[in-house]
Amino acid sequence: MNKIDVLVIGAGPAGSVSAAMIHKAGLSVRVVEREKFPRFVIGESLLPRCMEVLEDAEFLDAVKAKKFQEKFGAKFMKEEKVSDFNFSDQFSKGWTWTWQVQRAEFDLTLITDVQRRGVPVDFETTVTAIEFQPDESSITTVEKKDGTTEKIEARYIIDASGYGRVIPRLFNLDKPSNLDPRKAVFAHVNDIHRNNHDEPNRIIAVMYAPGIWSWIIPFSTGVTSLGFVGSFDYFNAMGGDPSSQFRTFIDGNAYLKQRFGDVEWVFEPRKLEAWSATTDKFYGHGFVLTGNVTEFLDPIFSSGVMFATVSSHIASKMVIRKLKGENVDWDNDYTNFIRQGVDTFRTYVMAWYDGTLEKIFFSKNPDPEIKRQICSVLAGYVWDQSNPYVKDHAGSLKRLAKLIDVSERLDAL
Ligand code: FAD
Repeated sequence: MNKIDVLVIGAGPAGSVSAAMIHKAGLSVRVVEREKFPRFVIGESLLPRCMEVLEDAEFLDAVKAKKFQEKFGAKFMKEEKVSDFNFSDQFSKGWTWTWQVQRAEFDLTLITDVQRRGVPVDFETTVTAIEFQPDESSITTVEKKDGTTEKIEARYIIDASGYGRVIPRLFNLDKPSNLDPRKAVFAHVNDIHRNNHDEPNRIIAVMYAPGIWSWIIPFSTGVTSLGFVGSFDYFNAMGGDPSSQFRTFIDGNAYLKQRFGDVEWVFEPRKLEAWSATTDKFYGHGFVLTGNVTEFLDPIFSSGVMFATVSSHIASKMVIRKLKGENVDWDNDYTNFIRQGVDTFRTYVMAWYDGTLEKIFFSKNPDPEIKRQICSVLAGYVWDQSNPYVKDHAGSLKRLAKLIDVSERLDAL
């Protein structure tokens, strides 16, 4: 058995970024992936904060060549009210655009580029057991499609297995999320009524009913991802299968009906539920967790791939330093750092569902500087402590909503 430096579990964005960074540092790395690629996964709208990671991991050229839809901002709509955030008008310094991607193609692009650099990637190879040794190395058992097994010895493991949550499941580290469980139904549709002025380069979140919203993510091919998110109670009260729910949702909103009422569905609507999850610890003896395995909050604000890439970028650089004999402070430089970003988005997710952001987004006279600061959060710049809407995320949002309340009441007098 040849011992490698790093075993990466999973070939999603988190796994590809990890493998690229480890390889770039001259260490040996191997990726094992349960599925055959391309494979479908949801999570199609990226955030500008991903771009610096994709650049450092040297993926930009490969992704640019795919001509995915460029994304310049995010729009929130409720009936006739629209709140538009343009990433080029934001507070933090950084990327002002990103992409909206069909994930099967995007994930395949990244992992193919990793293979091109000489990293071995085993598809249809599932991790079934891991034994950690006293020196932090490990022996991982993988099962291949034909039922045969292999043992892989590695000095360190990066678990980037997404919803598979390999290490938390094998070692009972899973912890329930503090967010309410939600469901989604979604499909790709032929977006023949798209307005070609700005609609393709924005994600649109439509506030559908209290706690219920819809995403519209246009792709460069003319196809658009359309999804609906809501509570279990709402979906249960609707009854029916995902296709009939999808149809009912479209028909129940004037904007959605006019844009999507008569369009062809590229595939029958699918459902997903109860995706929020977290774990007790983001690292341990011989391993680090990255991407969705650490914590996934909610689809609103499209933070999933941003966290997947940023966490993998930091974790892999720390693994490299550790394997080169340096001391690393996992608690401070990894767990606390990632948690701070996740907690900022958690505040915004909760403020979305409790109506605070509705008040802010649709206020009559938004302060341009505050809008820029909130825009930076929506672009994924959730570590910029000079932004008051990051540093004191919960307090700033609450105070702003109160101010808007008071000024609207005064206006009404
Ligand atoms: P994944 O992309 O899930 O990759 C993990 C890989 O690990 C998979 O390919 C899997 O096959 C493999 N694996 C699993 N178990 C094993 C095993 N035992 N052995 C080997 N391999 C294994 N994010 C956004 O950024 N934008 C969005 O618009 C967005 N919308 C979303 C909408 C919904 C309804 C939901 C639920 C999520 C959404 N997300 C979105 C989140 C996004 O899906 C994830 O955050 C993102 O895919 C995480 O990437 P990852 O690399 O961590 O994991």
